[in-house]
Amino acid sequence: MLNALHHGFSMAPFIVADGLRGENYRTVQTKGILNEIEVAGAIAEADAMIVVTHVKGHELAGFGGAIKNLGMGCASQAGKLRQHRTLDLEIDESKCIGCGKCTETCEMHLPEIVGDKARNLSPKCMRCPFCQSACPTGAIKLLHQDRVLKALASAAYGVLSTFKPKKLSYVSFAKDITQYCDCRPNPGDVVMKDLGIFASDSPVSIDGAFLRMADYKIFNEAYNVDCTLQVREAFHLGIKVT
Ligand code: SF4
Ligand code: SF4
Repeated sequence: MLNALHHGFSMAPFIVADGLRGENYRTVQTKGILNEIEVAGAIAEADAMIVVTHVKGHELAGFGGAIKNLGMGCASQAGKLRQHRTLDLEIDESKCIGCGKCTETCEMHLPEIVGDKARNLSPKCMRCPFCQSACPTGAIKLLHQDRVLKALASAAYGVLSTFKPKKLSYVSFAKDITQYCDCRPNPGDVVMKDLGIFASDSPVSIDGAFLRMADYKIFNEAYNVDCTLQVREAFHLGIKVT
């Protein structure tokens, strides 16, 4: 709630869709890399939805568009964790200088400094992965990042299954396209020229249209990921194209 207000979502009544403690959700079957996904309760109960997205870069997904907004944005806390935990983190001791920046950055201060090396064995780790961005030597590596992109598509499929046909529309603002996600205190520099406003009744079509106009290799190179994978996977799962 505070994060939403901090980012300016005060123009209309704001509802935390999965409840103040993430307790309100419905688990639905899905397909793809996940078998099921916890959809936020207020989303699962809604009759219709307009998915409004600010398109930007994202260190895990490459870019955040409508598919990410559906898959991650409409999942409950448990559903978000399920998607993030498809990837692994590894600390390369040979590169670690024991500076402790990872521990300072982590909300739960999870990486421990043992001797002069960082270690993260905690089952609480959310794979967010803010510690990785904070590490000055590149010692923290993301493993199996492609799984997160597939998980976004899989979760989006599950979210869509809670709506009747023709009950969703999408509007994406490709403006002020920043390096990082808006949920961060500082989403970084603008990395691409404004591309305009997109509208569609398909998340695959609207993200595909953005990618056709965008120089998305900027994201692929920055985050070492093929950001088109989430769109291709959503198409492969059968999410409609218009
Ligand atoms: S931020 Fe990087 S270099 Fe510093 S302690 Fe953590 S892993 Fe090691
Ligand atoms: S991935 Fe996130 S939760 Fe896990 S150690 Fe790093 S900052 Fe903490």
